[in-house]
Amino acid sequence: MFNSLSDRLTSTFKNLRGRGRLSEADIDATVREIRRALLDADVAVPVVRQFTASVRERALSAEVSGALNPAQQVVKIVNDELVGILGGETRALQLAKTPPTVIMLAGLQGAGKTTLAGKLGLALKEQGHTPLLVAADLQRPNAVTQLSVVAERAGVPVFAPHPGNQGMETDAVIGDPVGVARQGVAEARAKQHDVVIVDTAGRLGVDQVLMQQAADIRDAVTPDEVLFVIDAMIGQDAVATAQAFLAGVDFTGVVLSKLDGDARGGAALSVATVTGRPIMFASTGEKLTDFEVFHPDRMASRILDMGDVLTLIEQAERAFDAGEAEKMAAKVASGEDFTLSDFLVQMQQMKKLGSMKKMLGMLPGMAQMRDQLENFDEREVDRVQAIIQSMTPAERDNPKIINGSRRARIARGSGQTTSAVNGLLDRFTQAQKMMRQMGKGGGLPGMPGGMP
Ligand code: GDP
Repeated sequence: MFNSLSDRLTSTFKNLRGRGRLSEADIDATVREIRRALLDADVAVPVVRQFTASVRERALSAEVSGALNPAQQVVKIVNDELVGILGGETRALQLAKTPPTVIMLAGLQGAGKTTLAGKLGLALKEQGHTPLLVAADLQRPNAVTQLSVVAERAGVPVFAPHPGNQGMETDAVIGDPVGVARQGVAEARAKQHDVVIVDTAGRLGVDQVLMQQAADIRDAVTPDEVLFVIDAMIGQDAVATAQAFLAGVDFTGVVLSKLDGDARGGAALSVATVTGRPIMFASTGEKLTDFEVFHPDRMASRILDMGDVLTLIEQAERAFDAGEAEKMAAKVASGEDFTLSDFLVQMQQMKKLGSMKKMLGMLPGMAQMRDQLENFDEREVDRVQAIIQSMTPAERDNPKIINGSRRARIARGSGQTTSAVNGLLDRFTQAQKMMRQMGKGGGLPGMPGGMP
């Protein structure tokens, strides 16, 4: 996600580091590099112009010359301005005072609307809402079935004309998306769903018939939110497409999809500034949990390689089983030994978080370790799990008894090499030592003052 932009900006700042005062020439050189990096990442020209002009103006002001560390101050300015072009404040979904809240999805075919309907449905359900998905995309042959599949995976009901209507009483006509949308909302009201997500049809390119249909659906269901979904990988077309949808349907918020791709993605970064509409969500993969609320400040921080620890923590909280976490904390506090069985539970919880690569990528300074990160093998987690599962309960509780012949047996049982088993046992011994120290109230080793 925005990797090359991130690399370019961080290396620009590296050149500034260690300098005392910055001359006007230094600042101009930096601004020039930033401009080039943004343009190469496909950020729209007017946005780049506005961005670099304010960075330059602020960098030349007393804000920087009077700063203790001018280079750091420049990074802070770039960060502020990035937050600005990404829309500033985080914008939450606007829920209707009288339910149901109607959310309509619009965008080109393949943008990721149907997938988003499932992601949003799941996220809302987890927050205690009772969403209903409405299949008003009757253009693409498979769209209704696809939405039904996504809905089922999310555990959320769907309202659709046959096929795929899942037993709902509907006489909606296949060829009438406006009617389906209207009936879907009526159904939600009747069955007391508090949110309705209406999926609409997209075409491969912007066209008048598509726009008119979307506008008709909007008029029929008077949505509280119209979310424009845009594939971040379509490059420079993103801005024109967004402007066409703004004129044709209008929307209240933007969803950037496919942010997991490594395309340049800068055009998507321009959408908030160009349309004046906030980016509300980001889609980062094909799985239903690959979905985040878009926080402009956290995204800026990721782009500048300062990490996004807050999102990381939120995702961990979502995946972790509170009961297990508490048990573990109690165990560590009581000074009881951390065993391989505990380790296995932890691994399984980590796996629930999804891609380790994605998680590690949210740590500060990761841009410099991108190669290692790329080589991170997600299957490592499975290998460790296989090894632990090949141990007897006694071995898991007391790894000291694992001698040479036991190691060979475990290797055979798990289909791994003996050196992989040795490697795991070494790492485990280290982790156990660290846990013991934490249990003694010493905090993490090497950390001052017993930080948690
Ligand atoms: P729609 O035509 O707008 O409804 O788009 P779909 O939801 O059918 O998505 C089109 C394709 O993009 C599907 O193959 C999805 O699995 C895929 N897709 C959707 N969102 C993402 C995402 O965030 N990341 C990736 N990698 N693929 C996605």
